[in-house]
Amino acid sequence: MGSAALTDAIKSIREWSMTGGRPALTSPTAVGDNFGSLVFNDRVQAARLPKAAYKALRATITKGESLDLSTADAVASALKDWSIEHGATHYTHWFQPMTGITAEKHDSFLQPSGEGKAVLEFSGKELVKGEPDASSFPHGGMRSTFEARGYTAWDPTSPPWLKVDGNNVTLVIPTAFVSWTGEALDKKTPLLRSIEALSRQATRVLKLFGSTSERVMTTCGPEQEYFLIDRNFYFARPDLINAGRTLFGAKPPKGQEMEDQYFGSIPERVLACMADAELELCKVGVPVKTRHNEVAPSQYEVAPIFESANVAVDHQLMTMEVLKRTAPKYGLECLLHEKPFAGVNGSGKHNNWSMSDEFGNNLLSPGATPHDNVQFLVFCAAVLRAVDRWQGALRATIASAGNDHRLGANEAPPAILSVFLGDQLADIFEQIEKGGAKSTKQGGILELGVSGLPKLPRDAGDRNRTSPFAFTGNKFEFRAVSSGQNISLPNMMLNVAVADALESIADDLEKAVKGGEDLNKAVAKLLTKIVKEHKRIIFNGNGYSKEWEKEAAKRGLLNHKNTVAALPELVKPAVVKVLEKHKVLNGREIHARYEVYLEAYNKTINIEGQLMVLMAHRYILPAALEYQKQIGQAVVAAKASGGTTVQSKKLVVKYSKLVDQFQAQAEVLNGLLEHSGASPEKHAKYMRDKVIPAMNKLRDIGDAIEVLTPHGLWPLPTYREMLFVK
Ligand code: ADP
Ligand code: MG
Repeated sequence: MGSAALTDAIKSIREWSMTGGRPALTSPTAVGDNFGSLVFNDRVQAARLPKAAYKALRATITKGESLDLSTADAVASALKDWSIEHGATHYTHWFQPMTGITAEKHDSFLQPSGEGKAVLEFSGKELVKGEPDASSFPHGGMRSTFEARGYTAWDPTSPPWLKVDGNNVTLVIPTAFVSWTGEALDKKTPLLRSIEALSRQATRVLKLFGSTSERVMTTCGPEQEYFLIDRNFYFARPDLINAGRTLFGAKPPKGQEMEDQYFGSIPERVLACMADAELELCKVGVPVKTRHNEVAPSQYEVAPIFESANVAVDHQLMTMEVLKRTAPKYGLECLLHEKPFAGVNGSGKHNNWSMSDEFGNNLLSPGATPHDNVQFLVFCAAVLRAVDRWQGALRATIASAGNDHRLGANEAPPAILSVFLGDQLADIFEQIEKGGAKSTKQGGILELGVSGLPKLPRDAGDRNRTSPFAFTGNKFEFRAVSSGQNISLPNMMLNVAVADALESIADDLEKAVKGGEDLNKAVAKLLTKIVKEHKRIIFNGNGYSKEWEKEAAKRGLLNHKNTVAALPELVKPAVVKVLEKHKVLNGREIHARYEVYLEAYNKTINIEGQLMVLMAHRYILPAALEYQKQIGQAVVAAKASGGTTVQSKKLVVKYSKLVDQFQAQAEVLNGLLEHSGASPEKHAKYMRDKVIPAMNKLRDIGDAIEVLTPHGLWPLPTYREMLFVK
């Protein structure tokens, strides 16, 4: 009963506040002292490794040099001692399969040594390579049975850490997961390859500007939005447990109309939970920085300080895991789904992204000198070209059944990719297009390579929350990314897209310089060409508006409104070609991903459909039939006592009609779910065009029944309870 969950929730909140909440978990010293305390980071490596091994490992991490087995042995031995001192009994090769979030298999350090004894051991071989029994991970047909095994390979660029779960401590080794033929079966491998690809092209461009840089890394700072609700409600909702979102539920009388939640004060129990999660994240080296209320009731956000993209992705995955694990300690459940509540803002992940050379120069930061600024404009232009040329593939990397509910809804960016530059930068590019960039809106003077850009403020232009891809002063923010997804894929595609744009730029400029042309002149010409070619992708207006959809169509921008429409972009010949060219994914690898994501879509919709039928039969109908009986009896009783029955009769008729429609629609949906046999593509279209509309219809009727049914009879916690009782 909804009311039972409500009673339990109120009880748990009261108990929590009666104990005075939990003791404050974070103090400045606690956080400072604990930062990285569970990480085998540079500091620990320096202290514990033999000098030669330490040097070799650093060369691998910073320069990508390959690592020999004797170094691996030394690292393994130090890792083992350090882990055991911290109470670890097991180690795990942690990896990112193609669906789901992360996977791990635990192995004990214990090795039998004969005579009934055992010793603790961990070799370089075990560190470097693992063989999970991984035949049941999705592989999109890439592993036929004769090559069924895959192996995990240590990624030395992301530091190992200790996972503490109650009394169990496990050494976690970030790894890539590949098949015996070397094909990527995971999300980390292509990300690492894409970082290399971008570095190759970016350093070519930098060299033209006189830089000695040999490595460019991509940086990433992902903001995570999420909901926290009382766990009693969660357990009373089969849809939240099994689908991560509510499949029924009428809109509450008070939604987010008051806009009093955003940046509002954080409820005490929630704050304690956040502080606890942040402390845990600090210990494992995730540099969490910001927390606040989000727009929807019971919605929050946490953001770290940016790091190198590979580490940032691992840390992002850890953040999701820690949020999920910490919430129950406070009687809360953390919902990472993109749209847990219909009609209420969904959650996204703002993927802040930039490029930096090994000296720490941010390549998307407008500089102090004219020279720096020309270089800055070239890298900005590369991003414009990248997003315009590869908008389809980028859109596909954020496509999922969950994100379909969010993109293009009234709170989230549209499914059309465009780039927000802010007034000043847009103005500069406009002038570049005209071929004679001279002045800016702020009155500064710009002649490429001759005098400087006006100082662009850190926060150039106002915030445009409606843009899916925005320049925010010294980085781009890919905002259409979804709250529940692994951010490897969008970052991988972004890196490839920018690498490809930079390659074309480097080709052009190198040729011009070789031909004796002045670099500044060549740059000016090239920038003009790029703006002319790609200005359609620039949009500073309101991305939520209907007019933009029309305007975008006129500009020829893609508008894939759902996953089924977006996913085929991944396997378009041009996309396959660019991924192969930059050695990030081969044809088989990208096709496998396409199949896996399509399959995930089909499975998700199927599970949701089945759940709706289940909830209709086992929760909603019994309650509705009971109330129908009660109002019927009320009419009979009123008649017997000579009372008026006009209104009650009207209610009986209205309610009975809804119940009847609901029953019929549940049957329709149930029947539609029987479908099988078609190809995955056809099946996905069927899910989108037949099953989802039937689910929506069932939901509408169910929600209409909910608002007429007494609180005490309604078997599910309501939106009002879940979102406002905290
Ligand atoms: P804003 O106020 O524009 O959101 P913040 O400085 O608060 O900017 O940063 C938001 C997120 O962007 C943080 O996670 C931050 O670490 C990240 N970020 C800042 N600079 C960069 C960069 N150069 N590369 C990647 N991410 C960055
Ligand atoms: Mg935000």
